[in-house]
Amino acid sequence: MNIRFWGVRGSIPTPGKSFVKYGGNTSCVEINAGKNTIILDMGSGLVNLGTYLIKKNIKNFDILVSHFHYDHTCGLPFFMPAYNKEFSFSIRSGLSKNRKKTLDVLKKQISSPSFPITIDKFMANIIYDDFEIEKEFLIQDNIKVKTISLNHPDGATGYRIENKNKSVCYITDHEHELSKKNEKLMSFLWKSDVLIYDSTYDDNNFKDYIGWGHSTWQEATRLAQACKIKNLFIFHHNPENNDKVLDAIQSKCSNINERYIVAQEDMFFKLT
Ligand SMILES: [Zn+2]
Ligand SMILES: [Zn+2]
Repeated sequence: MNIRFWGVRGSIPTPGKSFVKYGGNTSCVEINAGKNTIILDMGSGLVNLGTYLIKKNIKNFDILVSHFHYDHTCGLPFFMPAYNKEFSFSIRSGLSKNRKKTLDVLKKQISSPSFPITIDKFMANIIYDDFEIEKEFLIQDNIKVKTISLNHPDGATGYRIENKNKSVCYITDHEHELSKKNEKLMSFLWKSDVLIYDSTYDDNNFKDYIGWGHSTWQEATRLAQACKIKNLFIFHHNPENNDKVLDAIQSKCSNINERYIVAQEDMFFKLT
């Protein structure tokens, strides 16, 4: 499997000179497994990914959505493949007690008075699908998708994507508990080749943001160590964390393990 990061920022895009190295676009990750393309989240990074898919003539793929906060969906109305009838893809999300169906949420998000067009304007063959969180399912050429419920306002879904004995876990947006081990999450992540993890905060300021639904880069490294994760990507960067701050986090992560990486936009990782 290959991974390419198209957006690594959390909450809101961060353009500007101080954010060039790690990038300003919000959550969007592309995973390639053989000929298959899977996209995790539709943040502002999805816009550039759309241009790339058109250039590469990749017309079939699946999009898995963690949840519907705007930083994870704002790229969709500007995703050019959606307006091209030659493209065929799915957008899937996990149903929870309070969560409406994928199609209903997107219809509401992309509509007046928040947006000038509606999703009826999409010309691609789009399947809007829902799944029960915690159940696993197959997509494309037998790619197994396992899901877990995360601790986040309005809920969020974590993913573990498995193909040919390799696995990638995508855990954002999620708040950890200070005094309790999350055994369920730990067994979900166990010995994964890759963990992409919500590292919005720092252990030093985490207590000020309890209830906001995010975790810390230190918790990412603790989980990675406890679960024997091979490659960790610090992800969903706080919009306040400029390149200098993220460089400092990278050097602390490198001291723990050289395979603990602060994700950068455009970063490509080949899982061998
Ligand atoms: Zn987010
Ligand atoms: Zn969120």
